[in-house]
Amino acid sequence: MIPFTYVRPKDTADAVALGTREPASRFLGGGTNLVDLMKMGVEHPAHLIDVTRLPLAAIERTADGIRIGAMTRNTEVAAHPLVVGRYPLLSHALLSGASPQIRNMATTSGNLLQRTRCFYFYDPSYKECNKRVPGSGCAALNGYNRIHAILGASERCIATYPGDMAVALTALDARVIVQGAQPERTIPINTFYRLPGETPHIENDLKAGELITALEIPQPPANSRSQYIKVRDRNSFAFALVSVAAIVAFGENNRIAEARIALGGVAHKPWRVPAAEQALHGREANEDTFRETADAIVRGAKSYRYNGFKVELARRTIVRALLAASETN
Ligand code: SF4
Repeated sequence: MIPFTYVRPKDTADAVALGTREPASRFLGGGTNLVDLMKMGVEHPAHLIDVTRLPLAAIERTADGIRIGAMTRNTEVAAHPLVVGRYPLLSHALLSGASPQIRNMATTSGNLLQRTRCFYFYDPSYKECNKRVPGSGCAALNGYNRIHAILGASERCIATYPGDMAVALTALDARVIVQGAQPERTIPINTFYRLPGETPHIENDLKAGELITALEIPQPPANSRSQYIKVRDRNSFAFALVSVAAIVAFGENNRIAEARIALGGVAHKPWRVPAAEQALHGREANEDTFRETADAIVRGAKSYRYNGFKVELARRTIVRALLAASETN
């Protein structure tokens, strides 16, 4: 047992002050990931700052879309009429994740910050893990790397980001609102997560003591439809081997006016290839077109001993998701 303190800040400013003053602290949301990691000896914060009672659980309209408070539970977001009506992609992605009990507990910001499910990261008996112990090596490189990355990885780490919600948010061009010692700032979700590079233990753009307070999601493109497809080993309570969030908007003559495609389960962050999306502008929505898109997205993919199947799986899932999104047009 590693001792730690537990505190409930009185407001957001108090939480940020505590987080900034105590570098060894962590903000505690629903605890569905952090508490597991503490029990397993992967995370050992000296101070837990429970932010679940802060007034950050509203879902409201904004001038250009919707704002979701960081403490809103996943179940509530998935079922909220504004989300179901305007952002079904987000609702579907949330409902494809975890179990009902976990979604009842998990918060929006905690969901964003969930950590990789790499087996070696979760098991401290493996000494090699650059994410857990910087500079120690990577046991997955030559180990059982079936669930690992095929895009954007480095020789330091081949882990994937495991969540579903952030994949949909990436396709939706969401923004992460954070509060720290400095004034509130807004981070586009596409730059919020980092690739592993030389520093896989640094997973996102948050600075020490910064607290996520909300998400903002702009309106989806006009005349668009969406689809979230998650491929996994079993049909519930499992992480994605590959997931695809696709949005397709149609213009004149039913040609594609805009397309957005985000992939989960394949990289250290939700993965988008803007050039592949732009190449769809003005094209007809059909299987041949979408195969070209899928080829462009996985071009440059690198697989390891056990995860070569993910390249073709990603290709097929992209085509399926784009066709399904188009068929509802
Ligand atoms: Fe650790 Fe990343 Fe290697 Fe997994 S893939 S063992 S998380 S360094």
